[in-house]
Amino acid sequence: MKALRLLEWKSDPVLTEVDEPTPGPGEAIIRIGGAGACHSDLHLMREFEGGLLPWGPPFTLGHENAGWVHSLGPEVTGLEVGQPVAVYGPWGCGTCARCQVGTETYCENPAGAPVPGGGGGLGLDGGMAELMLVPACTRHLVPLPEGLDPVAAAPLTDAGLTPYHAVRRSWPKLVPGSTAVVIGVGGLGHLGIQILEATTASQVIAVDTRPEALALATECGADMTVTAGEGAAEAIRAATGGRGADVVLDFVGSDSTLALGATVARTVGDLTIVGIAGGSLPVSFFSVPYEVSIQTTYWGTRPELVEVLELAAQGRLRARATTFPLEHALDAYHAMEDGKLEGRAVITPSS
Ligand code: NAD
Ligand code: ZN
Ligand code: ZN
Repeated sequence: MKALRLLEWKSDPVLTEVDEPTPGPGEAIIRIGGAGACHSDLHLMREFEGGLLPWGPPFTLGHENAGWVHSLGPEVTGLEVGQPVAVYGPWGCGTCARCQVGTETYCENPAGAPVPGGGGGLGLDGGMAELMLVPACTRHLVPLPEGLDPVAAAPLTDAGLTPYHAVRRSWPKLVPGSTAVVIGVGGLGHLGIQILEATTASQVIAVDTRPEALALATECGADMTVTAGEGAAEAIRAATGGRGADVVLDFVGSDSTLALGATVARTVGDLTIVGIAGGSLPVSFFSVPYEVSIQTTYWGTRPELVEVLELAAQGRLRARATTFPLEHALDAYHAMEDGKLEGRAVITPSS
């Protein structure tokens, strides 16, 4: 079969011929209906190099995946061939305290995981191929709720799950009368806005450099949009009666967006760094408003993926997706790089 593979760091992935996977004990093979193209893949292709991560190329890209069970290995019960499923992407050891509660992102026994700190599409073969192997499949597959197809579900497993996790941990601060700021309205940000709208009573302010992204933010329910750059902080302060934003979600993570986040955060607020553009923020007693909590978040938990899919099944969360056949997957990444995508690009290897 054909697969879009990252063959070495700092290079474009290549469509190559690989053997079809076969399932061992506890494993499943998924026929991929949708594989989302995440900006993290661009970071992998452009910026990462050997020694930064405990894994590396070659591997097939695609870490946000959904499809149908194609075949099951020995000892798998509770799943059926043909069943539509979403893949929970971060694969841990399954037995440590974090994995026990479904937080495989922060597995404390990485040596016991299929690959330390990674998963399918991140060190192991992912979903940008017709078939994908999923280890410990009863843990790593979530059956799709009625009415949700794999193309719609795929982006939810990362571009939906990651902002959901970030928003959910700040729920206590997102009371009526509060303000949330979303910086970067791409794949993650446009779903983040919908998640804020569906699960909180916050005023939502969206920030982006691109007018098309701000238009999408409005369609997703943002109450106000602000163009990044000069005047952005003042506009956000003014919209909060001078108090600032209770929660800032930074889906870019550059020096300038982190500085904006720190400037517009309200005392006792949250500034959550999700984007991995590599920026940094000086933190000292006087550099951020009092009692602002600054944190990074990585992906989300398995129980949260179940909740995200439920939100979508209820019609409250929907990715704006442009589909690309596997042969044109590289075009999706180039369009993302050129700022030409709306929402998410989803590769459809089985269509
Ligand atoms: P994307 O390319 O789809 O969207 C990024 C958006 O940010 C675009 O709309 C772009 O116009 C906007 N933007 C760029 N510079 C900006 C600036 N200075 N101010 C305001 N907006 C700006 O990317 P994505 O797939 O949504 O991913 C976003 C980031 O999150 C990436 O860095 C990605 O690697 C990272 N990510 C992190 C996690 C995690 O678990 N922490 C998970 C997935 C993705
Ligand atoms: Zn991702
Ligand atoms: Zn673990």
